[in-house]
Amino acid sequence: METPKNPASIDQRIEEGLARLAAVIRADDWNRAKAAGINPTQQGVLDYLRGRPEGTGLTDIAVHLLISQPTATDSVAALERKGLVARRASDTDRRAVRVLLTEAGVALLEGQRGEGGMARIAVDRLDEAGKAELLLTVVKLIKTLQDLGAVPVQRMCATCRHFAPFVHPDGDKPHHCHYVDAAFGQREIRIDCHEHETADPASRAATWEVFQRG
Ligand code: SF4
Repeated sequence: METPKNPASIDQRIEEGLARLAAVIRADDWNRAKAAGINPTQQGVLDYLRGRPEGTGLTDIAVHLLISQPTATDSVAALERKGLVARRASDTDRRAVRVLLTEAGVALLEGQRGEGGMARIAVDRLDEAGKAELLLTVVKLIKTLQDLGAVPVQRMCATCRHFAPFVHPDGDKPHHCHYVDAAFGQREIRIDCHEHETADPASRAATWEVFQRG
């Protein structure tokens, strides 16, 4: 029998903890989706389209949500029947189709904004330093998953061509965003930024080196 003197490895215990958190987040998503009369995958599609007013393709949706193409197609079709998304021909390639939120889809997401689930409540109870530390850890985990090819490049500061880490002496705002030409702090690091533009691989590697050392 396992005793405190002989615990599972720290890696295993962290994974167990993350699995618990993932289960709570899934339950939160399920409750939010149920209240909106959709399923959690459809909710994920709406959430993904929120910061993409220009729309995106079915393959992109499938890749980012880690679902199959047929599941993405079925989910978009169901949302279309409910009037929450629409398909439009791409401006650049008439054969390609882009999926966008409709006004009703935007309104639904706006209405959900205040509906933080249990995971949000738990995060909110961390102190400010704890939140900043957790955000940084989340960024590092996502970066590693990107490097492993488990997730596509995310719209994070760490992969953005506008990001200049630790260029200001101000300890509260050491980073610079060239898109808005402003300094910002560790707490403002973005995970999914609409203005993100992916840097080339060499720049990403150099930026990450500076960021993680800082
Ligand atoms: S544009 Fe967005 S992702 Fe890029 S550095 Fe600025 S805040 Fe970060």
